[in-house]
Amino acid sequence: MTKLVSVLGSTGSIGRQSLMIIKHLGLSVSSLAANRSTELLEEQVREFKPSLVAVFDEKAAADLKIRLRDTSVRIVSGMEGVIEAAADSSGTVITAMSGAAGLRPTMAAIEKGKRIALANKETLVCAGEIVMAAAGTHGAEIVPVDSEHSAIFQCLDGQKDTGFSRIILTASGGPFRGMSREELKNVRKEDALKHPNWSMGPKITIDSATLMNKGLEFIEAMHLFGASPDNIDVLIHPQSIVHSMVEFADGSVLAQCGVPDMKIPIQYALTYPERKPSIVPAPDFTKAPLTFFKPDLETFPCLKIAMESARLGGTAPAVMNAANEEAVRLFLNDKISFYGIYDAVVLALDSIKNKASPTLEDILEADRQARELVRKA
Ligand code: MG
Repeated sequence: MTKLVSVLGSTGSIGRQSLMIIKHLGLSVSSLAANRSTELLEEQVREFKPSLVAVFDEKAAADLKIRLRDTSVRIVSGMEGVIEAAADSSGTVITAMSGAAGLRPTMAAIEKGKRIALANKETLVCAGEIVMAAAGTHGAEIVPVDSEHSAIFQCLDGQKDTGFSRIILTASGGPFRGMSREELKNVRKEDALKHPNWSMGPKITIDSATLMNKGLEFIEAMHLFGASPDNIDVLIHPQSIVHSMVEFADGSVLAQCGVPDMKIPIQYALTYPERKPSIVPAPDFTKAPLTFFKPDLETFPCLKIAMESARLGGTAPAVMNAANEEAVRLFLNDKISFYGIYDAVVLALDSIKNKASPTLEDILEADRQARELVRKA
């Protein structure tokens, strides 16, 4: 088991839960990185005593330096600072920053050959081929933190030479499951932010409401497990107890179950291949029946377009992801409607020419173009 951990995105939902698990397991923190929440970062530094802290926002970094002037912690700033924090220790890096901004720090950690507890799905959506190839070259071990992918990873453990016939990715369906297109036209962010099962950050909670999150996870699964889009099915499972399943050639299906709590997959990514006692209880299977059904792609077209962009490949997933990130930001600021998010993604995919076999620079450029387009529109 890893002893030293870097947490990128330490003030977000996954970052805070990661620090709880690090404390529970008695591990040490070597570096932290966050966007700009200096008050919380100060608390985290005083409690976990990392040697290095990166703050993306320059002003916030200056503020943190004042707050922590009585300590010896080294504080760095900007994207270069976050990259330094990612490459800092020889232990595990938890990549829990939100969005495509996690791409360069994740690559920096991979190049150091570390274990990556990957909690930033956008990295694989944008540049899955490049990221997975780099992990192979540098001997970096990627253990997914996303609950569905942790489930698939656990089902495939010990089955590497067997191969699988199908991945069944489960989805809670989000707060709007069962609603019609008409009913969803005028929903507001307050409605979308009320997720029935999972407690998560605002970006992923909106993605769960549009089912874009499942689309991003579809692409994430393709890259992590070398699956073709034809071998991944999405099933709505409102209870969020079965976190995903894998079907094998002999008709056997393995599933991983647990209560919907991110602390379970976070802990597994840190202790793998071992298992340690958890602070979270196991599920009670007598509480509610477990049900499964097909997603409604007409009401939730973001899932459909994500699967289409997965088939297109090239820069299309990066364009889709960037347009979605910008559109979610606009939705959270009450600037566009719920279906405005889908419209923004379609506009970006239609307007920006897809480039096959892109380099990292091509991907970052496609990401930039898509953001600019959505902001202007
Ligand atoms: Mg997930």
